[in-house]
Amino acid sequence: MPTATFTNFLDRARTLSDLRAASSLLNWDQETYMPDGAAAVRAEQSATLDTLAHQMATSGEYATLLDTVREEAERGELEEWEQGVVKESYREFERSRKLPDEFVREMSRAQSVAHHAWKKGREQQDFSIFAPSLERIVALKRQAAEYYGYAENPYDALIDQYEPGMTAAELRPVFDRLREGTGVLLQKIAGFGAPPDDSVLFTDFDAEQQLAFSKSIIQQLGFDFNIGRVDLSAHPFCTSFGSSDVRLTTRIFRNDLRSCLFGLMHEAGHGMYEQGFAPQLVRTPLAQGASMGIHESQSLLWENMVGRSEEFWAWAFPQLAAAFPEQLAGLDSFGFFRSINVMKPSFIRVEADELTYNMHIILRFQIEDDLMNGRMCVADIPAVWNQKSEEYLGIVPPNDSLGCLQDIHWSFGGFGYFASYTLGKLYAAMFFNRAVEQVPDLREQLARGQFGSLLGWLRENLHQWGKAKNASQLVNDICGRPLTETDFLSHLERKIGRVYAG
Ligand code: ZN
Repeated sequence: MPTATFTNFLDRARTLSDLRAASSLLNWDQETYMPDGAAAVRAEQSATLDTLAHQMATSGEYATLLDTVREEAERGELEEWEQGVVKESYREFERSRKLPDEFVREMSRAQSVAHHAWKKGREQQDFSIFAPSLERIVALKRQAAEYYGYAENPYDALIDQYEPGMTAAELRPVFDRLREGTGVLLQKIAGFGAPPDDSVLFTDFDAEQQLAFSKSIIQQLGFDFNIGRVDLSAHPFCTSFGSSDVRLTTRIFRNDLRSCLFGLMHEAGHGMYEQGFAPQLVRTPLAQGASMGIHESQSLLWENMVGRSEEFWAWAFPQLAAAFPEQLAGLDSFGFFRSINVMKPSFIRVEADELTYNMHIILRFQIEDDLMNGRMCVADIPAVWNQKSEEYLGIVPPNDSLGCLQDIHWSFGGFGYFASYTLGKLYAAMFFNRAVEQVPDLREQLARGQFGSLLGWLRENLHQWGKAKNASQLVNDICGRPLTETDFLSHLERKIGRVYAG
């Protein structure tokens, strides 16, 4: 039996969760179906819900209740998942309390100025338009790090928001080895000569058929349409209002077969994670991913480890060829597998392949670390960006829009966010390898279109926990060792051998 105080506290936590879910639903609607003319009123409605949630989460009454249940947790009077709810609630409470109201308002103003300046700078390929407002954002984020507090590096206080407990010092050696390993693989690829021909992916594919095929694939992977749905939006995303209502979006380009299909497999990976949280976590702060990087590992596991594998296409290609017989005539599953795995350096992060993608992240991570520690100033970003791009990718962007102005993240102050994308790739490879060890015929199952064992394994080992375990706990419990880049690099070495020597 839960204690009376905990029951009372859980009630508040659930109300908070409901308010946030309602706010997310308004956001989802805004990105999918809302008529343009509703924007102003919708902004007010969203602000009202967010303000109510914020007031509730920082009220004196909530604080007192939280103190009492923390004491109960310390005295061992709470069950394990209840302790988790208290711990996560306290973490959120501490974080939101550390920033003064005036600072939050100032940050919000700076973000909206910076967003406009970034858009304009990107349009006109001119970093100097964005630079003054970015300087303001950087100063505010360094200030925020002071408010949050940190042991040795102010950047850690920002990384912590997306990856609780992770530090730059822990990431740096992993990223250094990953960069070296990626360089070696890029040289190996260069040694093979001409890449596989992937021009077939960029012919013409009917939009409705692309969507129907992609939806059918994610349903077979295990995304549950009884508690989830798919709609269209300008930028694909996954949002949920509890495990029983998970919304995915995708976009379709007639002349690029990859976008809708792999985008939807990616979002379905996020969605299946959300659909798999244990029932008692519903409407509590534990009903979310352990970290951004862990969430990303679930999307990338399905998109890349499964969806770009030779085994998967041995099964899926005949279905795809049946949907697009003219376009894919003369191609077999192995040829298709090769065409979707061409790896070569490019300017834009979001268009980068599995291998070179991390170089984009490492470059940003290093610049952010230097900015947050005052070792670099905003004016130097374009030059440093281009120099690192040449060193890591062997290419120099011809203008800043294809370089340091390409991402929206810095305009909203999302420093510390990028690392999660690469962490997702490394975790995905680690988890997949572990699954292959524990389910010995897993690859054969994938080649037969049987995904239940893999999803079950993920549910059991990872999904059910939500945020009740943190990222390093999950990785240690599942893999028996801490974060490493080696699984990811050997996965790609194996794949490159198949794709390029094929
Ligand atoms: Zn994602």
